Amino acid sequence: MDIDGKRVAKEFQERLKQKIAKEGLTPTLAFVLVGEDPPSQSYVKMKGKACAEVGIHSIKIELPESTSELELLNVIKKLNSDSTVHGILVQMPLPKQINEQKILLAIDPGKDADGFHPINVGKMITGDPNVIIPCTPLGVLKLLEAYNIETCSKHVVVLGRSNIVGRPLANLLSQKRAQGNATVTLAHSLTKDLPALCKQADILIAALGKANFVTKEFIKPGAVVIDVGINRIDSKIVGDVNYGEVAPLTSYITPVPGGVGPMTIAMLLENTYLLAKSGL
Ligand code: NDP
Repeated sequence: MDIDGKRVAKEFQERLKQKIAKEGLTPTLAFVLVGEDPPSQSYVKMKGKACAEVGIHSIKIELPESTSELELLNVIKKLNSDSTVHGILVQMPLPKQINEQKILLAIDPGKDADGFHPINVGKMITGDPNVIIPCTPLGVLKLLEAYNIETCSKHVVVLGRSNIVGRPLANLLSQKRAQGNATVTLAHSLTKDLPALCKQADILIAALGKANFVTKEFIKPGAVVIDVGINRIDSKIVGDVNYGEVAPLTSYITPVPGGVGPMTIAMLLENTYLLAKSGL
């Protein structure tokens, strides 16, 4: 059965819109976009549109490709001290003259809409419930919740160990919490015999950025498959899972597009709302 991320995200955003209106909040999110990377421009456009739909005010600060690290740090400093701004999102990747880690560190942890600041990462890893969780991992947890997919005592294999998807997701799923309590294996490019390992998974999460990488040999019959991948082949978007041959073997699977992607955007809105509401 397909997990309809588009529908779950839409319902989530509808509830959020009502909460924001009822509470009389004007959450404000500042996007900082450096350079002219077309995918980054389109992500920021999509996220800005989603903000407007739920009543979040967004500001877009566009800077040239030649922006120096110091100039960007100064922009962040200004946003940090602007009390009308609740969330800051610096769209990655940044031009090579700018150290991304330095930029993430400069964002006020209380305005960190992506949840990438090391202080927030540390809080998340230690199970602090009052923390901003990175959007894609949080979106995956919400999808599992929406479909009542049990994670407790299940074996989850996460393919990909990036700081924005695989690693935080593996950590959250292993915590003592709702959508947690799983036994998690975090696999990567140096893991041996991936098909045999993945075949042991009750829930398989693919976040490696390799089009159609996961084939039927990776799947235990009846498994849940979450495909985080977004890969462009010509003008088509495909996931990391070969949906055509894998879907018939699964109990649940996320399609690409229309699975995890819409949830990532919905969770950015949720994070901005949380920052505006409580100043985490
Ligand atoms: P990264 O490139 O940062 O990380 C990829 C990870 O996959 C690395 O840990 C890498 O291992 C591992 N990997 C790569 N090739 C293989 C292989 N052949 N076998 C096993 N492991 C492998 O990617 P991201 O985490 O940023 O993104 C992953 C995918 O998710 C991409 O397609 C991206 O576009 C998508 N994405 C989707 C989002 C959404 O909203 N749906 C949001 C964010 C990302 P190693 O560490 O050893 O190099």
